[in-house]
Amino acid sequence: MIKGRCLCGDVGFFVDGRLGRAAACHCSQCRKQSGHVWASSSADESDITITGPVKWFAASESAKRGFCPKCGSFLFWKAHDEDAVSFSLGALDEPTGIRLQCHIFVADKGDYYDIIDDLPQSEMS
Ligand SMILES: [Zn+2]
Ligand SMILES: [Zn+2]
Repeated sequence: MIKGRCLCGDVGFFVDGRLGRAAACHCSQCRKQSGHVWASSSADESDITITGPVKWFAASESAKRGFCPKCGSFLFWKAHDEDAVSFSLGALDEPTGIRLQCHIFVADKGDYYDIIDDLPQSEMS
């Protein structure tokens, strides 16, 4: 089981189940909300339990983004037409046992940095 929480601790989550890939997303929405690249993994909605007063922001017609209303930590991303919930790797208690596996949405990456590791990159998701 892996556990995580926001900066102030009001919103927490735990995952008991199979994890999706650990990806660094370079899209402009993730960069705007997180401050830079957003690193996340995912789990089936039925395998993740969220506690506390999480707020959801309707970021687009296809997805919503969950954050803590007290400290502002950006913790979750959920597409309306998928059963998976993505969660922030930076919010996890350590040791996470997780390693980043890939970069996604690199076509939308910022112009202020380079990707300097050898992980696979995809233009979109
Ligand atoms: Zn918080
Ligand atoms: Zn993104």
